[in-house]
Amino acid sequence: MNEAQSPCSVCGAWLRRETITFTQTIRDSVYIVTDVPADVCVQCGEQYLSPDTVGATQTLIESGDVGETRQVPVYRLAATAPS
Ligand SMILES: [Zn+2]
Repeated sequence: MNEAQSPCSVCGAWLRRETITFTQTIRDSVYIVTDVPADVCVQCGEQYLSPDTVGATQTLIESGDVGETRQVPVYRLAATAPS
């Protein structure tokens, strides 16, 4: 049993332990960390990472131990959004 201890603080639904891809933006740089354990709300999709997991992703990013580099397209909504 590995149930999350608390329900989603956004919508109150249950959380499920999943492995996610965590994206962090620092200034104009985007960092992607894969295989990150998180509790994900089954209803709204809100993702909850433990403080230890967040710390581990920070440490990994700062280590510069890059697994791979991906091209990431950037969209600017303001140009196409209805006014
Ligand atoms: Zn939720």
